[in-house]
Amino acid sequence: MKNTIRLLAVLLALCLLLAGCVGSEPAVTTQPQSSAPSSAPSGTTLPEPTQSEPVPETTQPTVTTQPPETTQPVTVAPSRPTEPQNTTIKAPLSQEECMGQAYRTVVRAFLDAGFSGVHAEQRTPDRHDIPGGTVYGITINGMPFAAGDEFQPDAEVVLQYAYYPEPEEQPDDSSFRIDFIDVGQADAALIRCDGESMLIDGGNVGDSNVIYTYLQKQGVTHLDYIVCTHAHEDHVGGLSGALNYATVTTAFSPVTSYSSKAFSNFKNNLGKQNVDITIPKPGTEFDLGSADCQVIGPIYESDDPNNTSIVIRIEYGQTSFLFTGDAETAEENDILDAGYDIGCTVLKVGHHGSDTSTSYRWLRQASPEYAVISVGTGNSYGHPTETVLSRLRDADVKVYRTDLQGDIICTSDGKTVTFTTNRNQNADTLEGAGAGGNHGSSEAHDYVLNTKTMKFHDTTCSYGQKISDQNRKEVTCTRDELIDEGYSPCGVCKP
Ligand SMILES: [Zn+2]
Ligand SMILES: [Zn+2]
Repeated sequence: MKNTIRLLAVLLALCLLLAGCVGSEPAVTTQPQSSAPSSAPSGTTLPEPTQSEPVPETTQPTVTTQPPETTQPVTVAPSRPTEPQNTTIKAPLSQEECMGQAYRTVVRAFLDAGFSGVHAEQRTPDRHDIPGGTVYGITINGMPFAAGDEFQPDAEVVLQYAYYPEPEEQPDDSSFRIDFIDVGQADAALIRCDGESMLIDGGNVGDSNVIYTYLQKQGVTHLDYIVCTHAHEDHVGGLSGALNYATVTTAFSPVTSYSSKAFSNFKNNLGKQNVDITIPKPGTEFDLGSADCQVIGPIYESDDPNNTSIVIRIEYGQTSFLFTGDAETAEENDILDAGYDIGCTVLKVGHHGSDTSTSYRWLRQASPEYAVISVGTGNSYGHPTETVLSRLRDADVKVYRTDLQGDIICTSDGKTVTFTTNRNQNADTLEGAGAGGNHGSSEAHDYVLNTKTMKFHDTTCSYGQKISDQNRKEVTCTRDELIDEGYSPCGVCKP
């Protein structure tokens, strides 16, 4: 019985000691504490029992409250050795090996190796792709180290592990809503939060009246932000309609000029309001009401307008939204390589569901619950492609589509999002890829190719005529053959 009590006392002492080094305080220390927290975290495991090592009384201060009454060796002993002060101990892991490991594992390893001065500091890293609770910085006596390097047992081991505070609660009267406006084979989304608004793209020139009427109906007379994701007409065209109805504070575009009537009109209409175009740098952050917005792309310039698409991630409470314009895989990879967090609750699928966007890597990292595809019925591109639909299906994403469901409204209370559509709420959105349209993909046509941007154009397209001689090529073949070769159709002439 006495042995059992003593055993329990030792176990309790161990729990208290572990609680002291794995608690959730910003900085924890492993120095023995006389008043350890009373609640040991669950999931903490005790060291393996060993037969050979008696508990050294000097390192177990809590044991002294219930001293053993016999001299029999204790059978449950921590593996933490006591070294005489003048001998050195070895680092159990290299600095590199510690990185990315759960901080508790690393703390344990150093304690087991005999280090008494282990400090774990909770920090929020600048990069948000470091998993919470993992080590992303560690030094011994302020210096880098290798496995097996020798130190005094009281050497100072300082490690930082990632910690992300819970997002702030939204104000009581807060609201967040996105209207994905049905503009056919084009993009337009109106985002509103706590009375502030942002319009990301406005559809084609022909959609100007749709956008004008939409803002009018919704009573949106002011846009805090207007975003032209890129200069293609199906994104910038209808923004002029918005500018004819609403005033604007800030206008974002990846370029300040582009040789198209649609873009010139956009710029002229901004000029009438004395608003200059701002080219946002990646990393730019701004608020929309209580929502946090960040521009995460483009990272680099590109000759392909799609890959200049401004990509914006919005956080509202614990929900998040990713707007991608027509960014293709090249830009997707740039953003991921730059280390941006693209995790989102709702993904606006890139480039109308083209298979040149929404790569597996992108989708895996974004890991959305919902996706919205803004796409026109019977469009000539075959958007959305079966390839992208099947990727979304594999990733178990609930998909909404403007071609099947019209305007799509998404609201968030900061914890969950809710969708309503203006028709076919329960349409089978993962079936029925775009048919490829009227262009008879199997018939040969004359096309103009840009071998640099890998776009193909109708022979009459004004963009096709502007291609420099060294990049220009004229061919007669089928649309499918060009797509197989890696070419994609021009967004303006839609060949
Ligand atoms: Zn587009
Ligand atoms: Zn485009």
